[in-house]
Amino acid sequence: MKFNSIRFKISVFYTAILALILVFYTAINYYNLRYALYRDLDNDALVKAQEVSNTINSFLVPLGNDQRAFDFAARRVIRLEGAHPGQARIEQMERQWLQKREQDKIADAYINLATADRAEPVVVSANMNEKMVKGFLSDFASSSKKTLSYKDVVAGSTELRVVTIPFYYTFKKKQTYLLQVGVSRRPVLNILYGRLIFAALTIPLILLIASFFGGVITDRVLKPIMKLTGVASNITHKDLSIRVPEERVEEELKYLVNAFNEMISRLDKSFRYIAEFSSNVAHELKTPLTIIKGESEVTLMQERDPAEYRRVIKVTLEETEGMLAIVEDLLLLSRLEYQPGAFHFEPFDFNGLIDDVFEQAKKIAAAKNITVKLSRPERPLVLRADATHLRRLFLNLVSNAVKFSRRAGDIAIKAQAEGKTLVVSVADNGVGIKPGDINKVFDRFFHVDHPGPGGSSGTGLGLSIAQSIARIHRGDITVASQPDKGSTFTVTLPL
Ligand code: ADP
Repeated sequence: MKFNSIRFKISVFYTAILALILVFYTAINYYNLRYALYRDLDNDALVKAQEVSNTINSFLVPLGNDQRAFDFAARRVIRLEGAHPGQARIEQMERQWLQKREQDKIADAYINLATADRAEPVVVSANMNEKMVKGFLSDFASSSKKTLSYKDVVAGSTELRVVTIPFYYTFKKKQTYLLQVGVSRRPVLNILYGRLIFAALTIPLILLIASFFGGVITDRVLKPIMKLTGVASNITHKDLSIRVPEERVEEELKYLVNAFNEMISRLDKSFRYIAEFSSNVAHELKTPLTIIKGESEVTLMQERDPAEYRRVIKVTLEETEGMLAIVEDLLLLSRLEYQPGAFHFEPFDFNGLIDDVFEQAKKIAAAKNITVKLSRPERPLVLRADATHLRRLFLNLVSNAVKFSRRAGDIAIKAQAEGKTLVVSVADNGVGIKPGDINKVFDRFFHVDHPGPGGSSGTGLGLSIAQSIARIHRGDITVASQPDKGSTFTVTLPL
């Protein structure tokens, strides 16, 4: 698995989120439990302290409630020490106390009775050592706190929860003591440690399992993409018929698969176009080359007179010029398509250009006795364009109009501004275009030989070039034609 793979990133991301949730959830649970356990523990300690306090008080009354009675009661209850006074009532009370001590587990508690004002121990249960007593009384030496309070005390390996309650005793004057009862925190700590260990063991395990399944799910999601990759790497120019099957792909990936398949279709079309285009080029160049080869071979078979040589050289020259024209047209087309930056767009008055084209048209039309008319506005038609190529566009249209006109026909050139668009039309009343051909006239190498007098066969690149020039100026060419009535080519260009 690579570190910058989608699979890795998704796994890490979602494992991290899961870890965060688990830790957060465990922490909240832990603190809730801790709070509840400590509350129970505090309650337990308080109940014990109250039992001790009540028992001492109940001893005091039958003993006479003096200082001696207090000392005896405290020692008897907390340490089970002291001489027995022999009263039947006391004996009964003692029995009850011993029972309760066992029952309520007060025997295991750590009990300390201290003076309130100076925090000095008065009576301490037998299970307590000096260090514990110090711990019990540590906060009470300075502050004479006399209200209920809780604290944690650690003495060696014993960890205790200690409750402190005030104990009031009145003999001559009111005296206040602190009664402290400590209970072990061990059971609570054991439960809490247990929880922590459980979490520490299970969370990594859960994360491990989750990240494994996360990886499996990511793999499943990415599978169609891998399939797409597989198909893409199998595509060559020889087989562009491959498509990724769409039916079993998830909804979100359908767009990708669609776009991908459409891209292959476009590539397929382009490749077919290029193949057809090359075969057209080859075909167009083959005819003149065959003529040159044939003429040369025949001529070289025997001695010829100079006039014959001159004729063959002339034929060769004509064919070469034709080929050169084709090659130049192809170069121009490729520049129009792939190097639009090579054209120079400058503002100029279109009227000058169309006047020029008009003059040229009259010259070539004269041979077929064709009348050419021009209509254009007087005001300047300023255009940002490449003048040389725009002239080429209109000369192409005009020469086609002448080529496909009958003798003594009419050609009308019309330029006018319509809003922000310049509309120029070249109309003839010549042979027109068959409805079936009208969509093909702008295709490269499409041409129809004109059988009429003077009908010359072109290469079929002229209109294709004209259209490319118009488009490079963000304009276009359209054609309307009726067979035997004539054709009108209309060029639109942004002003
Ligand atoms: P070319 O003129 O070399 O044949 P073009 O690309 O200029 O090539 O024209 C392609 C074809 O469009 C022509 O062979 C012809 O069939 C048709 N065409 C173009 N202009 C006219 C027109 N003015 N009248 C009739 N047909 C036309």
